[in-house]
Amino acid sequence: DSLLVVNQIEKTYGKGETRVQALNQISFTIDHGEFIGVMGPSGSGKSTLLNVLATIDSPTSGDICLEEENLAKMNEERLADFRRTHLGFIFQDYFLLDSLTAKENILLPLAVAKENAKEMNQKVDAIATTFGIDSLLNQFPYQLSGGQKQRVATCRAMITNPKIIFADEPTGALDSKAASDLLESMSRLNETHETTIMMVTHDAFAASFCRRILFINDGQVQKELIRRNESRKA
Ligand code: ADP
Ligand code: ADP
Repeated sequence: DSLLVVNQIEKTYGKGETRVQALNQISFTIDHGEFIGVMGPSGSGKSTLLNVLATIDSPTSGDICLEEENLAKMNEERLADFRRTHLGFIFQDYFLLDSLTAKENILLPLAVAKENAKEMNQKVDAIATTFGIDSLLNQFPYQLSGGQKQRVATCRAMITNPKIIFADEPTGALDSKAASDLLESMSRLNETHETTIMMVTHDAFAASFCRRILFINDGQVQKELIRRNESRKA
């Protein structure tokens, strides 16, 4: 069943001669539990799409409904709350805070929530185990490798149990071993917790973890690939 319904989204930047149509009446649906990839050439609109769906940027027109709630109709206050409780984000550059430990970084999204300390600790421990970073929780970002930092960032995205995680080139700065480890963990998360993940990537290896891939060109879905065979590994 549908988690996210994207209906005729348009996004234009600028005016007159500098006007760019980044998204051109794009429509598609994401079901609960999908691990969906987004690929396409540079400038095709992938980041814009992710930013608009993740409510980081607003569309020029069109509707985005997440579990029947129309994001376009929410006021800024409601949207901020919704973003915090329903959406998770992972970026190529991790965006960890240098002055906080891994554990403190993971707990950040809960800082505004009224959760008790014991429950929060249990949550962090459970998520850290899934990502194999139990022993790194008291380290600071400078003490971690790129792959470890990205696993911390993914735990931070997961701590609120979001409905969907938006990942923009999460493996873009990682070597192939670290990328592979991260993608395995994301797959496990997707399978065991049924966390829906939408991932923009340039990388065919990363895309091979996705069951379904949208190919974007000129701000539209040009084609869609669905993998029949679920097992990716050779
Ligand atoms: P991709 O992620 O596929 O590389 P983008 O979504 O970044 O594509 O960009 C789509 C188009 O929109 C490009 O032509 C890009 O130059 C333009 N664009 C993206 N962001 C902005 C912006 N903030 N202001 C103006 N143009 C933008
Ligand atoms: P990617 O190819 O990974 O999507 P880009 O280099 O296209 O990354 O974009 C990086 C950032 O710069 C994005 O946040 C995008 O919105 C912004 N951007 C892209 N094109 C333009 C533009 N022409 N003017 C202003 N900002 C832009």
